[in-house]
Amino acid sequence: MTRAQPAAEPCPCGRGLAYPDCCGRWHAAFAANGTLAAPTAEDLMRSRYTAFARLGEVDPATDDGARTVAAMVAYLRATWAPETRPAAADLTPGPEETPTVFTRLAVTDTTGGGPFDTVGTVTFTALGQDASGGRVRMTEHSRFRREGGVWRYVDGDVAG
Ligand SMILES: [Zn+2]
Repeated sequence: MTRAQPAAEPCPCGRGLAYPDCCGRWHAAFAANGTLAAPTAEDLMRSRYTAFARLGEVDPATDDGARTVAAMVAYLRATWAPETRPAAADLTPGPEETPTVFTRLAVTDTTGGGPFDTVGTVTFTALGQDASGGRVRMTEHSRFRREGGVWRYVDGDVAG
């Protein structure tokens, strides 16, 4: 494999695009004016994975890090169906808490979830490292719903 030019940081979702050209587009649109623009359930899922990945990658003790945490938590809440949406405090890593550092995402299956669908599922495996350096591997079959043109995460079954 050849590496692309190291100009911009690669998107954590692993699609092979730079962050600003990938999930960063949806994060930026939401930060700018509250628009939720991910066109498919998979795009939304990837952007949510990337938001979790960014939570694990910044230092919330710095101003930049704190801003990123606030922006990613706001994005995660906005893209969560109201009936299953956690409180912001439950998504924000506490000062004594080291969030999981996600290192890899593999999307293994999708159903529906397109621009003209109203429901969709995405099955994925996320790999990472927990606070003690232990490996984390999570496979989830996630359900998504599109209302008013906006995809949101509803819930999912963790498959170990
Ligand atoms: Zn991405």
